[in-house]
Amino acid sequence: MARRASQHEPMHEHHHRKVQGGAARAAVFGISDGLVSNVALILGVAGASPSAGIVRLAGLSGLVAGAFSMASGEYVSMRAQTELLERELEIERVEIARRPENERRELVQIYRSRGIDAELAEDLATEMHRTPQLALETHAREELGIDPDELGSPVAAAAWSFGAFATGAVLPLLPWFFTTGTAAVAASVVIGAVAAVLVGVALAWVTDRPAVRPAARQLLFASASAAVAFLVGSAVGVGTGVG
Ligand SMILES: [Zn+2]
Repeated sequence: MARRASQHEPMHEHHHRKVQGGAARAAVFGISDGLVSNVALILGVAGASPSAGIVRLAGLSGLVAGAFSMASGEYVSMRAQTELLERELEIERVEIARRPENERRELVQIYRSRGIDAELAEDLATEMHRTPQLALETHAREELGIDPDELGSPVAAAAWSFGAFATGAVLPLLPWFFTTGTAAVAASVVIGAVAAVLVGVALAWVTDRPAVRPAARQLLFASASAAVAFLVGSAVGVGTGVG
């Protein structure tokens, strides 16, 4: 319904943006997660001043661990959601086969509740019940708000999450492949800060809001977590514990 309203707006680009909003938003959130978590991890380890090799190892482990964690979380939740929708679809399919007239009348009621007049609602519902497949698609759309052919793929969602997290996580790690010590720390901080601002701007863009606040917020979160991790890392060092 909301989508229909936006068709009246003159800007087609705006409409287009909303359609793709879900995937784009998920990607930006994934990049943000990877960035914030690995900036903090890398600076936390770097705070203890170990060799660059140790920081690289920690950063890569953080990237792999985080990306798998995001991907498996996404897979599990998406899987649960699609299974739930498939079960609901199956109920509709059975009802349409067993009691087509009940289901047709249910559709008439739905159309009438949306302000369509009785005669037209009858005609529309009858038309939509022409074939069981069309009836199922219509009931899925009207009652469950879904397209039965587009339930989404848990594997694809998991792969996307993995890629997005890894993209964010690799950025602050890059300097450690080329340099060491203070230079690498400074480069991680600069890359982390610039990337955080860009993530904020991207987030503002996909949610259709002004960019200043989300950008400032992202920068604040990234720098606060990195600063805390760095302080903890320097305080703990590498010389303590049983090792
Ligand atoms: Zn139904």
